[in-house]
Amino acid sequence: MSEQVLVPEMMLRFTCNQQGCCCKGWRIPFSDQDLVGLMKLLEPDECTERMAGLRVFVDKTTKVVEQVQLATVGEDFACQFLEGASCGLQRRYGAENLPRICQAFPAHAQPGAEASELHFDAVCPEVLEQLDEDDAPFQLAEVEVEPGSSLEWRARYLFPLPAIHIGERTFEPTELWTLRRRILKVVEEEGGRGGAAIDTLARISYAMARLVNEDQPIDAFEIREGEPVQPFEEHFEVCMRAHHPVPMAKAAYTYRRFVFAIELEGLAWEELVDHLAWRPEWREGFDWREPELQPLMLRFLGHRFFSSFDRLPDDRQLGFNYGTVTHGLATAMRFAMALRDWTGRERVDRDVLKVALGMSEFMYRSWRLPAATMPWFGLTPKAPTLITGKRPDATEEVPS
Ligand code: SF4
Repeated sequence: MSEQVLVPEMMLRFTCNQQGCCCKGWRIPFSDQDLVGLMKLLEPDECTERMAGLRVFVDKTTKVVEQVQLATVGEDFACQFLEGASCGLQRRYGAENLPRICQAFPAHAQPGAEASELHFDAVCPEVLEQLDEDDAPFQLAEVEVEPGSSLEWRARYLFPLPAIHIGERTFEPTELWTLRRRILKVVEEEGGRGGAAIDTLARISYAMARLVNEDQPIDAFEIREGEPVQPFEEHFEVCMRAHHPVPMAKAAYTYRRFVFAIELEGLAWEELVDHLAWRPEWREGFDWREPELQPLMLRFLGHRFFSSFDRLPDDRQLGFNYGTVTHGLATAMRFAMALRDWTGRERVDRDVLKVALGMSEFMYRSWRLPAATMPWFGLTPKAPTLITGKRPDATEEVPS
């Protein structure tokens, strides 16, 4: 019997740039099966050498191995098998013998309501290029998985999702498909009529706030025309200002290996922090309704709302999961304006926006921010304790 997967339509044409950007800068999290597969491939002496410095992470309760990480090499913390910009394991043994994460990245699958769903990571520059492939509205495609295809490898890299909370209610992710279907329909319609991403995001955020604050049943989730946008825009600007420029600049610096859409060579990195410092006049110098940027912003919104259930793993609160889309876009706006000024451009163009979106995704992925320290649109004052079920712990680590 053939298997179907649900995938953002533009990602059907995704191809890796073969630059090895995801093969360095972090320790790649292999599974224990990946490790066993690797050990079978390698000669005993090489195997011993490669395993030196191996880290194993075990779940404290179940004692099950969560992930293993090989030691990295060099100043850029590269995978041991990276040869220039290409993979030495793939060259020697073929892509079919790579660890599963390497076969699947930048995508993984999640069980969906109707079929498995493929989620592509917008940290990857080629995922961002696909989002910018054309101006067509965001759409999902249901496709048959061909045996031995990259789609099959990605579909096999399946991550189950835990239960999701809305206030004090708990749902299986598959029960929440109604919400996503309605959001994706609005994003698609807005893209079709040349609407503005911020207005769409405002309407979705009002609908989400009603769902959480009023304990609405899922089926009552309604994205309405004519919601007042100004309060949401004020919130959006608060989100833009939310972070100190120094950790933002650090995140941008770490992300530099993923940047191909604009030229950063020769720029002084120490100056980026000044460009990232919040300036009130930014609001006058940048129009987030700029027509040229809307198709990409709307396609990004569709992409993020499709894959939003795996965010904020500690809270698993849908109000926060969906709110991260606003934070991600607002922070991308701030990165975009800083990149515009730093690279000497007159305006934020789509190439700058792509890089800014990737930086923002990467920054939130790298940080662990307690949800109650962040601004959330429209959630009532009781929300932090109601939603998280715990008060923020002052001893929790936040990035310096
Ligand atoms: S980040 Fe994306 S484009 Fe770069 S090597 Fe990885 S999969 Fe390829």
